[in-house]
Amino acid sequence: YSTIYHDRLRSARGTRAVLSGLENLVLTGSPYPSGRNIANDEVIVLKDNFLTTDLPTTCASHILEGFRGSATSMVGRLLQDAGIHIVAKTNMDEFGMGSYSTNSARGPVKHGFDSLEQSVGGSSGGSALVVAGGLARFAIGSDTGGSVRLPAAYTGILGFKPSYGRISRNGLIPYANSLDTVGIMSTSVKDAISIYRILNKYDPADPTSLDLNSRARISHAGLSRSRVPDHEASNQVGVRVIGLRDKKESARLSLEAGMRWKAYGRQYLTKRSWRIGVPDEYNIQEMHPWIRIAWLKTLSVLQDMGNDIVHISLPTTQSALSAYYVLAPAEASSNLAKYDGVRYGIPRDAELADNHEGVLYAHHRGQHFGDEVKRRILLGTFSLSAGAMDNYFIQAQKVRRLVQQDFNNVFTVPHPLLEASTGNPEGVDFIVVPTAPTLPPLLSELKRQSPLDSYINDIFTVPASLAGLPAISVPVVADDDLPPTSDKNIGMQIIGQFGEDMPLLNFARDTV
Ligand code: GLN
Repeated sequence: YSTIYHDRLRSARGTRAVLSGLENLVLTGSPYPSGRNIANDEVIVLKDNFLTTDLPTTCASHILEGFRGSATSMVGRLLQDAGIHIVAKTNMDEFGMGSYSTNSARGPVKHGFDSLEQSVGGSSGGSALVVAGGLARFAIGSDTGGSVRLPAAYTGILGFKPSYGRISRNGLIPYANSLDTVGIMSTSVKDAISIYRILNKYDPADPTSLDLNSRARISHAGLSRSRVPDHEASNQVGVRVIGLRDKKESARLSLEAGMRWKAYGRQYLTKRSWRIGVPDEYNIQEMHPWIRIAWLKTLSVLQDMGNDIVHISLPTTQSALSAYYVLAPAEASSNLAKYDGVRYGIPRDAELADNHEGVLYAHHRGQHFGDEVKRRILLGTFSLSAGAMDNYFIQAQKVRRLVQQDFNNVFTVPHPLLEASTGNPEGVDFIVVPTAPTLPPLLSELKRQSPLDSYINDIFTVPASLAGLPAISVPVVADDDLPPTSDKNIGMQIIGQFGEDMPLLNFARDTV
């Protein structure tokens, strides 16, 4: 069926018909730019939570039906400035809440036919399938707890989530602000790098965008990667370059960092061996045996290439999942409070206009939010309520800190923005783990799952999100003869220290 699917996409490519014909893949599309034969590397699709002025933005929710942003997201503008056309907005889990792209007001993103309909992963499932199906060469998704990495793994493509704050969130409708990142999906690391280069810019309009000062510190910290004696390394590393208020001083440091970075780049080219961390805590019983085999195979290939495989421990891994499912819904419940039927999207029901304000508000939200979104709003509102705050929200914040510490204890490179982080000279450069413990499920299997089952599937992706670390899911095909988008796709995840996005991408490019 994969072949049939590819043909269907191919025959329809380049026309508006394709885009509207594949309703569950794409929510809205514009005609391909006139003048035909436009190469598919000149077009891109955005997940439907990025604002665009010429296409509606609904987050796959009824509540935002017909909503159009008043400005295009920063990501959209940077891509357009680079000459790339945004041709469609892709289907997703409503507001990014889900792991299978089945929680959409438009219906689930499907792939395969009839009883073999398979999940493409979520929540950026539409974007993933567009790339896997060859409709566009790149796609943009968002990754809060794994939403770019998981669908990439399930569809056999690459999904890159940069460090938190690298790419502007301006114009990305928030799910959980402290975790939301813009992700890139493609079929080659080289492509991911070219899109990342376009998007990796400081944006003063996003308060959490990494400013130039922070970016300079990141370059300094990366220098510690060099295999120099300890005392020299600490001299070289700019971890003390904290609190620079002076603009001139900051500019001088950035320049210096840039120059050192070049030297480091040369050294990178000659460097053959990396230390790869394998955390014991990820070897869980629930992992599908094929995934364990693929993981071992990946590690042995990396070892054959001359890298060292190092056992590490990330003890807070298990609690990370619970912390995520307290923090993300809490932030979401606050973000989604603004959908009251007055300011955005689908208008309030006129018949109820005489009703009491509170009733109207509840009625509107009850009618137009999907079940999963309502569940998250209830969870989040509860954990933020006075009686539960200390036991849930505050505890989860503490766990989040521990998760960050776990990572800082194992990476060679110090966390560039934390003064207390010094880097572990015996540590590792990257961590390699599976993206998910499961193979892509059939949609029929998902019907028997509880919400909790789907939350558990995020166990390997949420730790990097809580710590804001860059991570990429790269495809490992269980059976080499199978095409992408087959049900035998497995994703392996490479995680790096905060800010180490380029070294991570280079490592992926050289090893995949
Ligand atoms: N599956 C996770 C959730 O539902 C992650 C979603 C995401 O990254 N947007 O929250």
